[in-house]
Amino acid sequence: MYTLRILGGGKEVGRAGVEVTDGSNSVVMDYGVNFDQNDKPNFPLQTSPRGLTGFVVSHAHLDHVGALPIYQISGSKPVYGTLMTKVITEVMLKDFLKLSGAHIPYEWVEVKKLMDNFNSMPYGEEFEVGPFKVRLDDAGHIPGSAMVSVKTDRGVVSYTGDINLTETKLSNRAEIEKLKETSVMVIETTYGTFRHLERQKVEEQFVETVKEVVEGGGTVLIPAFSLSRSQEIMAVLAEKGFEYPVYFDGMIRELTRMMLDNRQFIHRADVLSKAFETFQPVRGWEDRHKVWRERGVIIASAGMLKGGPSVYYFKRIEDNPKNAVFLVSYQGDRTPGRKLLETGKFDEQSKLLKARLQLFDFSSHAGKDQLLEILKAASQLEKVVLVHGSEQSVNGFAQLVREKLGVEVFGPENGQEIPLWS
Ligand SMILES: [Zn+2]
Ligand SMILES: [Zn+2]
Repeated sequence: MYTLRILGGGKEVGRAGVEVTDGSNSVVMDYGVNFDQNDKPNFPLQTSPRGLTGFVVSHAHLDHVGALPIYQISGSKPVYGTLMTKVITEVMLKDFLKLSGAHIPYEWVEVKKLMDNFNSMPYGEEFEVGPFKVRLDDAGHIPGSAMVSVKTDRGVVSYTGDINLTETKLSNRAEIEKLKETSVMVIETTYGTFRHLERQKVEEQFVETVKEVVEGGGTVLIPAFSLSRSQEIMAVLAEKGFEYPVYFDGMIRELTRMMLDNRQFIHRADVLSKAFETFQPVRGWEDRHKVWRERGVIIASAGMLKGGPSVYYFKRIEDNPKNAVFLVSYQGDRTPGRKLLETGKFDEQSKLLKARLQLFDFSSHAGKDQLLEILKAASQLEKVVLVHGSEQSVNGFAQLVREKLGVEVFGPENGQEIPLWS
């Protein structure tokens, strides 16, 4: 009896975790965290370690890897993912422990143990996890990201992880032609009801607008997540020959270096490396005090202005209408970034923002048309399982799939089991 069980990411974005079992052995794909209103981490449901043959990881975002060390506390389980995912995961977990250590059930020793048990696997090659034959293919989401296909003797279960069909500077388009034999698709639904703008136009408009502000004597603050979005922005500016000063602050430097050390995972390593050579890292407080007074661009985490150096810069530049704050990622509920977009204020107490504010859609997730295209790539599709999306997004996309493809669709809750084959 083959069954799928949702450990996390059911009708929510984050703490991904999907278990496939054949009745006696199982494999878990992703094991991440998300955060509640008070920034406390939430973990996925647990599964019995008996019969659990290992974990396969799609990519290194915390909502996909943040809970993995839990299974290294009183035992040990093998973990599989790409080399890029492995090296980034270590940095992400280190940072997670630093920021939220008091609320995390494991420590650095377990992260080290996880790294010892982390097997890096190339794209496109089948390997065994217990009785399952598993393969990773490029998901196009961030460097090293993978779709996971689990072959059983009854059919192939594929899990997209986070997936993108739009080519970016960092990633190629997802290799969806590899999903041809998939019979059960577990697919992310971050943008199940949303259509993205054309990427090239977004890039052009972005660089033009940044130039306009800088040439008008202003400073542009770009709050961006240090993994991936920052590097994407740097590479876009470098490719377009942006000739004013650009500074980057936070973990961006360490992560960019890792990407350039593993450049086979980077679509346009040439422009990323040009950016890294031309643009300036902020090395400490002395630099930080200086750079916001200059005409130029500052890229700093966090991307939704929830702490980190971006908040420091924001407070310095917000009062001058010559300056600008350009958001380049989705702004979650109850974040200062969302509040600014909706009310023009950082929080209840603050005054109205005077600097220019704009949101650019640099998403690294497929929009609804692309999600449909992914499903259509599977020529023997029987079942579709929607995860990693809000309730509204899951319900909206489920309806679209039923209309267009006529296959069985599930939008499961956490803990729900879906029978696959008897
Ligand atoms: Zn992701
Ligand atoms: Zn995710």
